Amino acid sequence: MSTTISHWINGRAIAGGDRFGDVFNPATGEVQAQVALADPATVNAAVDAAKAAFPAWADTPPLRRARVMFKFRELLEDNLKAFAALVTAEHGKVLSDAEGSIIRGLEVVEFAAGIPHLLKGEFTEQVGPDIDSWSTRQPLGVCAGITPFNFPAMVPMWMFPVAIACGNTFVLKPSERDPSSANFMAELLKQAGLPDGVFNVLHGDKVAVDGLLTHRDVAAVSFVGSTPIAEYVHHTASAHNKRVQALGGAKNHMVVMPDADFDQATDALMGAAYGSAGERCMAVSVAVAVGDAGDALMARLAPRVRALKIGPGTDPESEMGPLVTAAHKAKVEGYIDQGVAEGAELVVDGRGLVLQGYENGFYTGGTLFDRVSPDMSIYKDEIFGPVLSVVRVDDHAAASKLVNEHEFGNGAAIFTRDGDAAREFARNVEIGMVGVNVPIPVPMAFHSFGGWKRSLFGDHHMHGPEGVRFYTKYKVVTGRWPTGIRAGASFIMPTM
Ligand code: NAD
Repeated sequence: MSTTISHWINGRAIAGGDRFGDVFNPATGEVQAQVALADPATVNAAVDAAKAAFPAWADTPPLRRARVMFKFRELLEDNLKAFAALVTAEHGKVLSDAEGSIIRGLEVVEFAAGIPHLLKGEFTEQVGPDIDSWSTRQPLGVCAGITPFNFPAMVPMWMFPVAIACGNTFVLKPSERDPSSANFMAELLKQAGLPDGVFNVLHGDKVAVDGLLTHRDVAAVSFVGSTPIAEYVHHTASAHNKRVQALGGAKNHMVVMPDADFDQATDALMGAAYGSAGERCMAVSVAVAVGDAGDALMARLAPRVRALKIGPGTDPESEMGPLVTAAHKAKVEGYIDQGVAEGAELVVDGRGLVLQGYENGFYTGGTLFDRVSPDMSIYKDEIFGPVLSVVRVDDHAAASKLVNEHEFGNGAAIFTRDGDAAREFARNVEIGMVGVNVPIPVPMAFHSFGGWKRSLFGDHHMHGPEGVRFYTKYKVVTGRWPTGIRAGASFIMPTM
């Protein structure tokens, strides 16, 4: 008898809807739980709870809201191992990587704990005779977050700590593939003293998402997931007059110049392409080898990819775990078939990997293609698996052109010892997050995360200063205290 994962509404677990989805253990292939899939009435219940909790929470002094964040942070740290085990059990990534992802989320909680400072407005004395002016940032109301499977702890924490610290209430719709992390965080927030209704978890699929995007009481929507759904979420929620930030997919390139340290570049590529089985929006899936870097890189990469230690995420020896579902494994291996059919050189083939003792797990081995060209589907599409494509180009200009012409613009990196080449790349590349000898340039919590082009729809990146702007409305007050002397009615624009 498998367990059922319920919604979390108004501070307690709630059943809702008569549909359920299977939650797998990707390491074994077994169904380990059933998750409730919300119906429209459950969507309304979650939004109603958040709406009812909003006035009192918005009135709570920022310092008290910050104290809940401090306590939540402490609880995350105390429960790190148990939380990481939950992430690994449903997602499949190795435990140390799961812990790292929770810590990157915890860092956003630390940022949000600074909210009294972050919400400070500006004040100008004497903007006119005896007139002062000041600005404030006020919360929006009910905010919704819709998140992907690949970071069930970190990506929600890019959103709700900032939203809640700003005085909003929140409804999180996590991925139905690994839903337990959301409930775990809800319980910790309650223990941290967050009032009921401020943070709610609504499990489900398109029904739940559509209910949130069109609900008249939802003020803002934050989304992270694949590009087609990000675009749909942006269009639909915008058409319903909501503020929206929708982060989509990626195809991150790492340019390796001929003067790079190839051993360092190889280490960087191994972690960035195969860490978390390539299921990261900032994974490097294309290595652009400039000039004679191609042969040097391939000679180092191929044996390392063949030697990757693949196993269940709970095995401390594993460098890479399984993919999230059987369907995703089939999709990734389908791309490898297409790459071969389109004429790329398959140097290491990860298809059909079966692990002893885990025969039904969703494992695909590390895969390496050489001589990939921009017209191939393995170059154009996001595969989201442990597949690295090497593209060879003649010079730096050709490498930059490739990066800039790709439809996605999440991350890109350059590996070089040439300061000019690095500066030129960082300045001109059409990408939101750029690394110089750093393969996965994910900004820290006090900066903001987001891509360009078809990797982000909307105006704001997530967390950091952009997050505070997204989750607040700007207001300017201009005031005077009349002295009793009447100036009379004025029919012209006042000027100084
Ligand atoms: P997904 O787009 O399938 O799902 C994301 C969310 O949308 C889930 O909550 C899901 O329930 C919901 N959803 C799915 N189909 C829907 C539909 N038809 N209508 C309404 N809602 C729907 O993404 P995923 O497979 O869970 O996650 C992987 C994707 O997320 C990759 O493309 C990856 O690049 C992207 N991602 C991007 C970032 C970033 O910061 N840009 C970060 C992490 C993941």
